[in-house]
Amino acid sequence: MCGIVGYAGNRQAAPILLEGLSKLEYRGYDSAGICVHGVKEMQVAKAKGRLQVLCDKTENGQAVPGCVGIGHTRWATHGAPSDVNSHPHVSDSGKISVVHNGIIENEAKLRAQLLEKGVKFHSETDTEVVANLVGYYYEQTGNFIGAVRQALPRLEGSYALGILCTDLPDTIVAAKKDSPLIFGYGDGENYIASDVPAILKHTQTVSYMEDGEMVVFNNKSVRFFDFVGEPIEKKVETITWELSAAERGGFDHFMLKEIFEQPKALRDTLSPRLKNGEIVLDGIDLSAEYLKDVRKIYLVACGSAYYVSVLAKYIIEKACRIPTEAVMASEFRYSDPVVDEHNLVIIISQSGETADTLAALREAKRLGAKTLAVVNVVGSAIAKTADQTIYTWAGPEIAVATTKAFSTQLAVVYLLAAYMAKQLGTMDDETYGAWVEALEALPGAAEQILTKENVEKVQYYASRYYGHHDAFYIGRNVDSAICLEGSLKLKEVAYLHSEAYPAGELKHGPISLIENGTLVVALATVQPLFDKTMANVREVKARGADVLCVTLQETAEEAAKQADGILTVPTILPVLQPSLTLIPLQLFSYYVALNRGCDVDKPRNLAKSVTVE
Ligand code: GLU
Repeated sequence: MCGIVGYAGNRQAAPILLEGLSKLEYRGYDSAGICVHGVKEMQVAKAKGRLQVLCDKTENGQAVPGCVGIGHTRWATHGAPSDVNSHPHVSDSGKISVVHNGIIENEAKLRAQLLEKGVKFHSETDTEVVANLVGYYYEQTGNFIGAVRQALPRLEGSYALGILCTDLPDTIVAAKKDSPLIFGYGDGENYIASDVPAILKHTQTVSYMEDGEMVVFNNKSVRFFDFVGEPIEKKVETITWELSAAERGGFDHFMLKEIFEQPKALRDTLSPRLKNGEIVLDGIDLSAEYLKDVRKIYLVACGSAYYVSVLAKYIIEKACRIPTEAVMASEFRYSDPVVDEHNLVIIISQSGETADTLAALREAKRLGAKTLAVVNVVGSAIAKTADQTIYTWAGPEIAVATTKAFSTQLAVVYLLAAYMAKQLGTMDDETYGAWVEALEALPGAAEQILTKENVEKVQYYASRYYGHHDAFYIGRNVDSAICLEGSLKLKEVAYLHSEAYPAGELKHGPISLIENGTLVVALATVQPLFDKTMANVREVKARGADVLCVTLQETAEEAAKQADGILTVPTILPVLQPSLTLIPLQLFSYYVALNRGCDVDKPRNLAKSVTVE
């Protein structure tokens, strides 16, 4: 959520800030703003709505001259999206300007204390408290960096901050706690940003800021400190991905590009871990001795990653015979979970910054569980906090609605399940060999779905069904779990009301909602349950539903006798089938969204990395 960019150099800052913010649009936002040190004073420009509004207002930044500045895209938590509530926020004294990602949880208390001291507020945001607190200390001491240092320990909650002071016009101060922030080293210029794409055009040399760290920099010097003021050495890292990874590259939307990148993402995630018929998880310590002592595995995540977890329950229980439960992170942390050292807690998050998931991870650690994170963003908070991390090598995922991150998370679950089963001895050699072989074949099988012919078929059904008001996704066993993700995708990008139910549950309530013109997407890839699912298809057809069925080539003919439309996927080892079934569902949501005129890459109200509770 939200994006921060900061620049100190010799070029005009505003265009660089605006371009950087455009690369962070994927994170979700409702307003944007910049503050630049001009010749005499700081100049602020901000506007509710898309970044383009701010670009128009500032003539693409030309109207805001100056070489040092900070920029922000806001995802409102305190106060409605409006020009006034947009960041940057300037202190009542006019001396301090702040951009902030996160939430100041004790803002009401701090606001009251500052009001008592005669400080005036102009917005409803929690961020203005930070500007005024730093402003207050600065008035007292005349020491900008000291004032930030005095303010930080008083802030409860989460923050990545970029701060300017009128009296130190070449300097930016930034600090981090529980919200992402990176520092970028340029040639005669330096940067801060919430994420790599914002600065990748200018530099590939970065340091990842950690919680409790602060950076003070101008165009030529950079100093890192802890919050007490002790200097610290930071590791300098090189970003290995190309700028093109964060560009649309010929596709109309990032979502479509990322759907098509899935075979590569799967290959990058699986190949290094499949060696000579074995699953090799370098750096992962899950010994037979430890696993035999695990009474229950929890998978904790939010959104689509939670649906990976629901699937993982089927997969891990089948392979390892250890009771496994998927829990939403926002519930886990407050549910007084029965967790101790006999539990393995697997945490799944694309960004590695998801606030609820990070909090759940900390809770699991506090309770004594061993924790293992499945994360896409290297160096993210969750990756650093978990006892062990397995990275999904999906590359940067820009579209808000996840596709390739989901696929690679699921791939890691397969690797883990078979790896643990081998350790435990719950999987015979033949089955293990079949899993490894199927995992090797998975990227190629995914490729087969993404042919022109198949895509056109999905486009056709999307154009036929996009006007429906309600959709139900039904399926059995692993199909029922993938229904959850298919249905979520349709909600997220196409704003179409959609629900997912195990097909066997239909008769226990939801079937009362089926009427003429209800869309039912029926997944029927689990062979032993095919007839049962088709019986459910018959039931909804009898009540007027239009049925689109996703099934295997070998059952397509039979399914076509009941369903109105058929999409087929290649057959693979049954346990891996969801990885393939998912792809037409992603494409279907994408094309339904296009037909409905939705902003596919930036769906309303949603943010890519949900860094607030
Ligand atoms: N809590 C702040 C606000 O509502 C910042 C939100 C954000 O991360 O964009 O203004």
